[in-house]
Amino acid sequence: MGQARTISRGGVRLIFLSASVIALAVASLACSRQKANDSAAAAEKSASPEAKDATVTALPDSGPLPGINAGRAFQYAREVTAFGPRPIGSANHRKLEDYIYAHLKGDEVVDDVFMADTPEGKLRARNIIAKYPGNRDGIIVIAGHYDTPYFLRNTSFAGANDGGSSTGLLLEFASQLRGKKRDGYSVWLVWTDAEEAVRQWSATDSLYGTRQLAEQWQKDGTLGKIKSYLLVDMIGDADLNIERDQNSTPWLLDLVFQAASRYGYQSHFFSRTTAVEDDHLPFVRKGVPSADIIDLDYGYGNAFHHTTQDTMDKLSAKSFQIVGDTVLETVRMLDALPKLPPTQPAPAVNP
Ligand SMILES: [Zn+2]
Repeated sequence: MGQARTISRGGVRLIFLSASVIALAVASLACSRQKANDSAAAAEKSASPEAKDATVTALPDSGPLPGINAGRAFQYAREVTAFGPRPIGSANHRKLEDYIYAHLKGDEVVDDVFMADTPEGKLRARNIIAKYPGNRDGIIVIAGHYDTPYFLRNTSFAGANDGGSSTGLLLEFASQLRGKKRDGYSVWLVWTDAEEAVRQWSATDSLYGTRQLAEQWQKDGTLGKIKSYLLVDMIGDADLNIERDQNSTPWLLDLVFQAASRYGYQSHFFSRTTAVEDDHLPFVRKGVPSADIIDLDYGYGNAFHHTTQDTMDKLSAKSFQIVGDTVLETVRMLDALPKLPPTQPAPAVNP
């Protein structure tokens, strides 16, 4: 996620304001952000009233709640972070690709290698998709990016929270899903690549991996099978405050909150509302119900974001526990619902 840094750097503390004030404040922000918000809003408008106004009530809590091994997730994040800066096209990035693959041995893995057309020229990038089949027709995607910003390639940027936490948590999800028969939708884990800007965050310089993947999945018909797209980003902060993201699908956020509440985690969710540009946008724009689970208050005023201060000592295994459990319970609740609001056909807007 890149854009919110600009907000905090500018000293505008949007996130504590009410939604109506945010709407006014957002209008005064950088063009790129406003444009993105407009197209997300356009996508929402083009959705049918059924989807827009949908509310989803989870079935009564039944059975034991899922729980991740947070210590293991944290250790994965630590190992990922130890590679150092991991921008697309770098040797460290290659090493991390190999690391992720090594941890998916025996799983069904699909490789999505592509050339990202960036302001620095064409750079090789690779989304990694691991598939865990279920007995219900449809797919739930859990995604998180593993790259670090190209523009920070010559710094000691470690990306413990930004890149490291999502990569580690997804590896833990793989450990949880592996070798079990899923009584529900198929779950696809996606380590997205080239989420970060190469030079400076804009609609065309960001989200290379998910823009490519959403396009490809639209062409091959996968998109219509995706019941929900759950994105995790910057979830390791010891002081965990997940935003309520205005670009996400409201009914899916409500379900995430219900899932968190089942563990007593709700105080870490949605005390603030903001609009986030992240790896869910290419899917939001194509009508896929999506939720970005992200904490954009990383250090006072988000001061650690995209700085060399983004290191493991700022993170806590407890935060991995909270988000990991909540995501798995959200999946279980989606599995149990008799009917979900439909994925909408792609609206006629540019990605
Ligand atoms: Zn970032």
